[in-house]
Amino acid sequence: MTSGATEASEALLARASAVIPGGVNSPVRAFRAVGGTPRFMASGQGAWLTDVDGNRYVDLICSWGPMILGHAHPEVLKAVNGAAAQGFSFGTPSENEVALAEEIVSRVEPVDQVRLVNSGTEATMSAIRLARGYTQRDVIVKFAGCYHGHVDALLASAGSGVATFALPDSAGVPRSSAGETIVLPYNDPAAVEAVFAERGQQIAAVITEAAPGNMGVVPPAPGFTEGLRRVTRDHGALLISDEVMTGFRCSRSGFYGLEGPYAAGPADLFTFGKVMGGGFPTAAFGGRGEVMALLAPTGPVYQAGTLSGNPVASAAGLATLRGCTDQVYARLDAAAHAIADAASDALTEASVAHTVQWAGSMFSIFFREGPVRSYDDARTQDVAAFGRFFHAMLERGVHLPPSSFEAWFVSAAHDDDAVSHVVAALPAAARAARGPQ
Ligand SMILES: *Cc1c(COP(=O)(O)O)cnc(C)c1O
Repeated sequence: MTSGATEASEALLARASAVIPGGVNSPVRAFRAVGGTPRFMASGQGAWLTDVDGNRYVDLICSWGPMILGHAHPEVLKAVNGAAAQGFSFGTPSENEVALAEEIVSRVEPVDQVRLVNSGTEATMSAIRLARGYTQRDVIVKFAGCYHGHVDALLASAGSGVATFALPDSAGVPRSSAGETIVLPYNDPAAVEAVFAERGQQIAAVITEAAPGNMGVVPPAPGFTEGLRRVTRDHGALLISDEVMTGFRCSRSGFYGLEGPYAAGPADLFTFGKVMGGGFPTAAFGGRGEVMALLAPTGPVYQAGTLSGNPVASAAGLATLRGCTDQVYARLDAAAHAIADAASDALTEASVAHTVQWAGSMFSIFFREGPVRSYDDARTQDVAAFGRFFHAMLERGVHLPPSSFEAWFVSAAHDDDAVSHVVAALPAAARAARGPQ
């Protein structure tokens, strides 16, 4: 059980706030949407986190996806220690990055080649530059509520923290950059057709989350992804499938492994991150060899990174991907369903309007009736009810993502003990969500 003390976290937040804006290095961590003091973590082991006050939590953030095997997994730890002992970074090519690239290419059939980068943001930024270089066009189409990192051109109507804080768009993005971005409602094929009919010759690419998870989980309606493939192909534009969140989580080959192959063919470019780094800063973008060949040094599209393909990060990613066996995916599925079913039952029992949505074993709970098909739908949920629910869970030793616009992440280390702990906390949290009657 938890002591509930937060003195040490409060002291760290005060220190942090003096030297880091808002005390955090990524906005959603600050608890602004739910109130209260963010917990500073001291350690993680399997499905559990321990904070600096000694409270223990079942972790349903899992670093926003990367910790798919659980914290400090022995095989990953061994790989990291082994790689680190050989040196941290060389600024030359090395073998681990080749092995990680081979593992990714072997899992995602349409990807012939990848370039490794350091974050999902870099992956989407580079994929867009490559698409613009390939098509010699400038305009990018994205969907409201989809988050592709904090790239200038992609911050328009973005999900994740931008959704959490209900920001219209980010300050500091030049009008010229935002002006090259067209934002459309998700799951609306007619809107896509209309924009291509009007501006098809100017559009370099459509970028979409393979299954959006940054406005909560909103899976593509049947045929939606395929329709994107058809319309982009017909107009000479590229399709970029952002699998930074879904990649190697929804299946061994990501959401593509669940939804593809498509009769109209696969996306031209894919982006990956999160799981493929095993908790270290590594990510990738990749696709058809003919497109990837345009990257420097073989082609004219420049892209680079001092630490890209870092040997320690690559070792962590490779050990994580190799650890993602069929049993691991089966366990993720079982743990996710046990938690989601119990949460839904508890909320129903407490008469709290909600809906659970899925993309493989990735899920989130919206605090409104379903279905939620777009960002406009997601935005009408009861965020205050979620805030009460979140804090009641936290008090009972369960750390949810501190926003109702985020997926809940489980790991293969979420065993029966961890799941039971979550299930036991749910009825009281559901009553708290209902609020004073
Ligand atoms: C997390 C995420 C990103 C950004 O990745 P970072 O590593 O945070 O830069 C991009 N796209 C999607 C779909 C994501 O979930």
